[in-house]
Amino acid sequence: MRIDIVTLFPELCDSFLHASILGRAAAKNLFEAHCHQIRDYTKNKQKQTDDYPYGGGCGMVLYAQPIADCLREVQAQCAAQGRGRPHVVFLTAAGRPYNEGVARRLAACDSLTLVCGHYEGIDQRVIDAFGDEELSIGDYVLTGGELASLVVADSVLRLQPGVLAEEKGYQEESYWDGLLEYPQYTRPEIWEGRPVPSVLLTGDHTRIDAWRAKQSHARTAERRPDLYEEWCRTHPLTPARWKRSERAALVRTGEQLAAAAQIYSESWQMSHREACTPDFLAEHTPEAMRQRLEADRTAGWAFYLHSTAGKPDAIVGVCHKTGEIGRLYVSPAAQGRGIGAKLLAFAQKKLPEHTRTFVTVLETNRPAIALYLRMGYREEAGTPAVSPEAHQTFTNRVREQKLVRTQLRDSEMDD
Ligand code: SAM
Repeated sequence: MRIDIVTLFPELCDSFLHASILGRAAAKNLFEAHCHQIRDYTKNKQKQTDDYPYGGGCGMVLYAQPIADCLREVQAQCAAQGRGRPHVVFLTAAGRPYNEGVARRLAACDSLTLVCGHYEGIDQRVIDAFGDEELSIGDYVLTGGELASLVVADSVLRLQPGVLAEEKGYQEESYWDGLLEYPQYTRPEIWEGRPVPSVLLTGDHTRIDAWRAKQSHARTAERRPDLYEEWCRTHPLTPARWKRSERAALVRTGEQLAAAAQIYSESWQMSHREACTPDFLAEHTPEAMRQRLEADRTAGWAFYLHSTAGKPDAIVGVCHKTGEIGRLYVSPAAQGRGIGAKLLAFAQKKLPEHTRTFVTVLETNRPAIALYLRMGYREEAGTPAVSPEAHQTFTNRVREQKLVRTQLRDSEMDD
């Protein structure tokens, strides 16, 4: 790959591109980089590159002519090397957002030219004439495009074959698959009283991978809910097959109801501990939950108790009147085995008379929301904000989301 940077500060860009990992890669001819001084292409005696903006306003604007002539020179150099026309990017604060997806797209270019603005920016006509796109590296304003072009160059060049020691190096990193990376640790095992998470010392790579995946999901859901929602939408979940030892039975007897209430209480307290006051959590005893389930049954709900090898470990409820699925709780000890997804699919099949099934969930219950999104549920616009109960008892203002799923095909109900 050939990369060109058109700038008023070529030395600054050049020193970055020839240091550290990129410097070693350039020395091995894994890419070539050229930085061009815009001022060298001016036609006035003072070598001035900017002028006042038409229409008034503060600051100065870069002329079109020197940038255009510089870009023509870059095109000529590329042609002389037998390359095609370079892909030209103008770095502007008003450009489209730059991200890893764009980096991957640009990494496929044979030659990429990055143009840096300065002062108030660049005459739009040269952007329109030469630019393939305008990119912004973030929602803030820099004094010049140099840092932005280096951000783009760095993130694109590290994707070139051979630049990183291992291709896996970037495939496991933040954004590659739409998630943020898990936290990293190195020696010593205990630093200033802070131990490394013990799972990382076990040598058990199945457990380590599972821990890292969980951390990665939790971080993304908390720090970048936008990314996480997108990841869930683009990673649909197919529930695993039921094991021979698994059963789901309609709750009929008092014993079954008590087992369901026990799971409901434990699991409710766990999933709502972030959102509720300790007093409110403590009110959700197995007995309180048993009464709730009974009241729900009177209102038209049916509950199913899931068990593995005869041991109850999850519940789910369906309301034939409304098409609602609820009370989907897996006991803390049985979580992480895919039981939630299996029971949700099971509950959907119990409502064949409804073309739309729905769930309501607190926005703080991120694992549940992730499950519903991955199982094809989408938030219904205009869901009411906070339930009156939540106002009084939850630690913060929390919103209840209504997520709806259209039942797809009859064949889907049969499998
Ligand atoms: N007047 C411009 C505006 O309000 O959009 C800002 C000009 S800025 C002071 C000068 C130059 O810095 C721009 O021409 C652009 O090349 C670069 N720049 C500033 N912020 C940037 C960002 N977030 N992403 C990419 N380039 C940026």
